[in-house]
Amino acid sequence: MIIAIDGPSGAGKSTIAKAVARKLGFSCLDTGAMYRAVAWQALQNGVALDDEEALGTLARDYEIAFGHVEGEPVPRRVFIGGTEVTDDIRTLQIDQAVTPVSATPSVRTALVAQQQRIGHAGNYVVEGRDIGTVVFPDAEVKVFLTASDEERAHRRVRQNVDRGVGSVDYAEVLADLQRRDKADSTRATSPLKPAEDAVHIDSTGLYIEDVIDRICQLARQAQAAPKEA
Ligand code: C5P
Repeated sequence: MIIAIDGPSGAGKSTIAKAVARKLGFSCLDTGAMYRAVAWQALQNGVALDDEEALGTLARDYEIAFGHVEGEPVPRRVFIGGTEVTDDIRTLQIDQAVTPVSATPSVRTALVAQQQRIGHAGNYVVEGRDIGTVVFPDAEVKVFLTASDEERAHRRVRQNVDRGVGSVDYAEVLADLQRRDKADSTRATSPLKPAEDAVHIDSTGLYIEDVIDRICQLARQAQAAPKEA
């Protein structure tokens, strides 16, 4: 079974996807981390962010892998070409570089193929921007998760404080979220938008546990009554 969770930056997708995966015994795939890893590698190799061909080659040639922190069932570590980039892909520099990288069609083609290969191997919660629309249009459960801009910025600042990486300046974080939302929603290739059959959840003011329970409930319903082919 695939549970697709799409939505804008900072809506809580990662935390919620990991918790749902833990509860249901599913694996979890963070597709944003894959675009971030390619952006990191592009900066590392000095590839221009408007060089479509070089970015596509990079996305095809460098293997992205996920690893576990000891005692954590859901993978949190990210590697590209064998180098660990778990923390390095969460900086403001990558927040900015990932926008042109993720808008590059050849990068998307390469990463979507990898995501489909990974997800087809088992039960997965997959989070991103185009999971219910492009990567897994037949996903059994599709959720479009949103929250107000202000709440998303507050959450992202708290997350950056906890991780010890990324900006902790509220105004800077808010401006970057809004910039990325606009770029992600208006780009030509696979823009951020809800799938027609997605369940919309606005998590503003909701307890995170309630959102997690709601998605687990949707998964159980889908298991009991599979969608018609
Ligand atoms: O989810 P996260 O904020 O880590 O994603 C980083 C960036 O990767 C997003 O701003 C978006 O440009 C891109 N992305 C995407 N498609 C996905 C996941 C992320 O374009 N499925």
